[in-house]
Amino acid sequence: MKNFLNLHEYVGVMHIHSKDSDGSRSIPEITKIGEKLGLDFLFFTDHMTLKSYHLGLEGWYPKDSSNGKTLVVIGYEINDQDNKNHYLVFNLKDIVSGELKAKEYVKEVKNQGGFGIIAHPDEIRKTIQRFPSYPWTSWETEDFNGIEIWNQMSEWMEKLTKINQLKMIFSPRRSLESPTPRILSKWDGFNKKRKVVGVGGVDAHAYPIDIGPLRVTIFPYKVQFKSIRTHIILEKRLSSDFFQAKGQLFSALEGCNVFSSNYRWGDAKGFMFYAKLKDKIYKIGDEVPFEDEINLWVKAPNVAHIKLISDGNIVAEKIGENLSYRVEGRGNYRVEVFRNGRGWIFSNHIRIV
Ligand SMILES: [Zn+2]
Ligand SMILES: [Zn+2]
Repeated sequence: MKNFLNLHEYVGVMHIHSKDSDGSRSIPEITKIGEKLGLDFLFFTDHMTLKSYHLGLEGWYPKDSSNGKTLVVIGYEINDQDNKNHYLVFNLKDIVSGELKAKEYVKEVKNQGGFGIIAHPDEIRKTIQRFPSYPWTSWETEDFNGIEIWNQMSEWMEKLTKINQLKMIFSPRRSLESPTPRILSKWDGFNKKRKVVGVGGVDAHAYPIDIGPLRVTIFPYKVQFKSIRTHIILEKRLSSDFFQAKGQLFSALEGCNVFSSNYRWGDAKGFMFYAKLKDKIYKIGDEVPFEDEINLWVKAPNVAHIKLISDGNIVAEKIGENLSYRVEGRGNYRVEVFRNGRGWIFSNHIRIV
């Protein structure tokens, strides 16, 4: 879809597990579900395997069509020796050694030309002992490309208590409120120094679990795919050539031309956050040279509570579909949008430099 700024928006889901590790269906089966929902891309990250990548399962789907609609990218998720730090890795042909410490493999992925995203960095799980938390503990590294600012499983697990568990199981997406303030402020901090893209991940497994006498699949893939989505903004439409298209998505991720949304509160397609300086438009992730006449604009796809945030502070907010703001100084600006108190849209930063 091309919007009035002449930009193309692609919507997809990141951090999906298949049968190749601890998910419950094959990549082609899961992809069918994504295709039916009209998703433009699916990023798979099974634990320490690239089996399906080597079987040639990446590509535009439907595979046999000349006009594919859903782009399937296959990376993997590293677990370190202590199974603490989890890292999503893309664009590498091989698995890096599981013997390395987090700091070392983050560097190794970068050296080999891969793209790495820290997974569920701040998760806290207290309720079910069988599912301990896997937070990121190795913050001394500087070589990662992105952070999963929002992870559906993490948020769900953190909120789960003995008392609310039935409600949480039967209405799993309702509990999603927003990325944690802990991770947002950490992410803002990294972006003061360099571009670190913030993405939303679902961490979809769709495995059945037993809670008391119940055996339930809490998050079937279809439900997961209607929750946290990643929206990528491009200046040119995605190429029909798979490798070129994949390159376009990763350069946009590197450029932070990204926002995340929770589909449960409405389709966020069409959301815009941009800067205008004279006749020039700058999109999410861009750098704008500071001048007196810069305006920031937000356009939400529906009436919502729009907050413009700079350095952790709300500098403007409004309930409506639009917000505009005259920039008074240098800084990084990002947008949070809430509906009925629930987090709906979280943008990456526009930098006034
Ligand atoms: Zn993980
Ligand atoms: Zn995972």
